[in-house]
Amino acid sequence: MRRPIIAANWKMHMTLGEGTELAQGIVKGCRDMDDVDIVLAPPFTALSTVRKEIHDTPIALCAQNLYWEEKGAFTGEVSAAMLKDVGCDYAIVGHSERRQLFGEIDRSANKKVLAALTHDLIPILCVGETDAERDRGVTYVVVDRQVKEALKDVAATQLDRIVIAYEPIWAIGTGRTATPAQAEEVHQSIRGQLAKLFDTDAAETVRLLYGGSVKPDNVDDLMAEADIDGALVGGASLKPDSFNRICGFERRT
Ligand code: PEP
Repeated sequence: MRRPIIAANWKMHMTLGEGTELAQGIVKGCRDMDDVDIVLAPPFTALSTVRKEIHDTPIALCAQNLYWEEKGAFTGEVSAAMLKDVGCDYAIVGHSERRQLFGEIDRSANKKVLAALTHDLIPILCVGETDAERDRGVTYVVVDRQVKEALKDVAATQLDRIVIAYEPIWAIGTGRTATPAQAEEVHQSIRGQLAKLFDTDAAETVRLLYGGSVKPDNVDDLMAEADIDGALVGGASLKPDSFNRICGFERRT
């Protein structure tokens, strides 16, 4: 049994005051949920403040990005060791907004995954196809490539410390969600690919999240799918009521 994870990606939202209020609302609603890992990814500026709010709760802290070098003349970048130092246990890697707006490529995602693992951060590796790629029928080609390249030089024994989020780009922030069946198909394919790249047992340990307009009214059906182990939530994570409801998704056995 893989333990579900619900992760909030606050993107470039939340001043310190707003982030404090949101974190307090989430702590209030979620602190007693003991059958799900809840993860908050505020902007870098709010990591320390949010950490204070979630201290003494099972809620974990996550960065939205990291840089792979240890230290040095890399203006504007933040290292894995710095993120660990501020209290992060997770880091998002290769989000489609980083790929589309900031020129990130599979090779940089790979370096970030390896740096995260070295510093005991769990990478949440994001993969997913564009609308045009889905229309051209190359969804699996794209996702297979992204997974394979990003996990180069990762050992099978490290897979249980890796989370992969399938986020079709056409569903992010658009209100268009993949149907549970569409998402499950790709999740099964990712797990199959992991089994080929590593081995079946290791592939079974990887938690696969779906991301793309997850909301209180679609999370239950998504989470009912066998290979959907959680959600990466953008817009709906910015209000305690909707995020708490998503964390409280209907447990179907
Ligand atoms: C995301 O930012 O990873 C995301 C899935 O956003 P949204 O839920 O707003 O589509």
